[in-house]
Amino acid sequence: MGQAFNDAAIVPLTTGRQNRLMPVALLPVPPTPAPSPPAALVWFRRDLRLTDNATLQAAATHGQPCHAVFVFDTDILGQLENRADRRVEFIWHSVAALKLDIEAQGGTLQVLHGSPRTLIPALAAQLGVNAVFAGRDYEPAAVARDAEVATALMAQGAQLHQVKDLVVFETDEILNSSGRPFQVFTPYKRAWLARYAAAAQQPENSSQNPNTTPVLWAAPRAPAAMLSLTEIGFLPTNLLQLGIQPGEAGAATLWTDFQTRIGRYRETRDFPAVKGPSYLSVHLRFGTISVRQLARFAWEVAQVQGNTGAETWLSELIWREFYQMLLWHGPQTVSQPYQSKFAALVWPNPPGHFEAWAEARTGYPIVDAAMRQLNQTGYMHNRLRMIAASFLTKDLHVDWRLGEVYFAQTLLDYDQAANIGGWQWSASVGTDAQPWFRVFNPVTQSRKFDPHGWFIRRFLPELAAVPDQWLHAPWTMPASEQAQCGVCVGRDYPPPIVDHAAARAFTLDLFRKFAPSAHA
Ligand code: FAD
Repeated sequence: MGQAFNDAAIVPLTTGRQNRLMPVALLPVPPTPAPSPPAALVWFRRDLRLTDNATLQAAATHGQPCHAVFVFDTDILGQLENRADRRVEFIWHSVAALKLDIEAQGGTLQVLHGSPRTLIPALAAQLGVNAVFAGRDYEPAAVARDAEVATALMAQGAQLHQVKDLVVFETDEILNSSGRPFQVFTPYKRAWLARYAAAAQQPENSSQNPNTTPVLWAAPRAPAAMLSLTEIGFLPTNLLQLGIQPGEAGAATLWTDFQTRIGRYRETRDFPAVKGPSYLSVHLRFGTISVRQLARFAWEVAQVQGNTGAETWLSELIWREFYQMLLWHGPQTVSQPYQSKFAALVWPNPPGHFEAWAEARTGYPIVDAAMRQLNQTGYMHNRLRMIAASFLTKDLHVDWRLGEVYFAQTLLDYDQAANIGGWQWSASVGTDAQPWFRVFNPVTQSRKFDPHGWFIRRFLPELAAVPDQWLHAPWTMPASEQAQCGVCVGRDYPPPIVDHAAARAFTLDLFRKFAPSAHA
């Protein structure tokens, strides 16, 4: 106050006609407002929720009023060929719900369309914020984008704070005894669990605990509009008709249901016709639920009740982090095998094989039913992802990268780290992958995991009348049986595209050539 008074005393005041100094004692002294902290900007990306959001928690702890923004990123959306993309619609609904939730708390969410590389620094400048908070993303393209945004912000005196939210443990928090990233899952998982157990002893530990600091939202200067799907260049899909509920509310419904089933997860998770898994992958992908919340529940149920279902499910969440960690430390694995000895392996890519697989015309019912599930719903059961990926690479001899791209285009829950990890595992070129001399037999897998053909009949109704005995390999069905059930192989359903035994032998030769040191 004293300093302010003194400064005022030496300011020459102009009266208009005269230019003279007024006596200090005559000046009215305005009350000095308390300095208000500069506002922060929360940039939502893969954390489209208010509950237990570590990015929000970090901004709120900073003690500043928060502005919020979501950008429909044209750098990403521009690459999508299909204008009716379920993921875009899922995000759109989730953003709309998030906006309403923030508005109910007195703030607003600005929804923009363009490149965040320019939009985020421009918005930060317009709002006069010096701190932008965003959840850390580990995908190489996102890392490059965030580096550019951080540099642009720094040039205008602001900072990008990247917050761990997508994972329980950061990419360098679980390292081996030499401080290097683990290459094998089991020791990684052991170290992850040990660290989790140790952190659980500290009640204030951010790896486990929910977001509790209330957010002080910046009062909106003007109502922010929600862009429509068409305004961002996309069309509605069958997402809602499929019964998929986006947003936090959708995630909460699935989670509540799965909590009652988690105890049976271990026994049920491999059977695609059974409601075994959580179906939460798309929500984990877009952050409409907190992975900390899920891990905490699974860990406690596993610990306290000795629940093996919860223990197995927690392992799947750890696989997710293992793959995030591998991609972060090995961004080259986006296009190169993790095991560099397989870099020289040339996949034959026989003409027509990839198309038959993608269009569910291989003649192997379990593979075709899996691909129909993917094409019709955007989801594929985990067991089927392994079978379909193994079949494309080891039976059809198609490069895993083509399959990876197809999944990237069609999966609602597409996640680069998990997808690269899953494909390299199936093609036996990744770290801790399926050994190359193990080749799934699609008929055996089908008999084992869809014994009554419930799943196959659901997605291949043309085979509905085929008796269980022949359903997994219809080409083996005698002509008299085909006539009796009214399903003729070659007319109603394709004959097998390859002979599995011959295809397997070819794969073993292919790998032996490129991995002479490996033994079958
Ligand atoms: P649940 O069985 O309920 O598992 C819970 C969560 O754990 C999942 O939501 C997921 O986040 C994580 N998880 C489960 N299994 C794995 C795994 N093997 N690797 C990494 N995380 C896992 N998962 C994706 O989320 N996105 C992908 O793009 C993806 N591509 C895959 C490609 C191939 C070839 C394979 C074999 C697997 C892929 N997976 C992918 C892993 C797995 O198939 C899915 O996470 C799972 O099927 C999703 O269903 P859910 O949510 O019901 O899983």
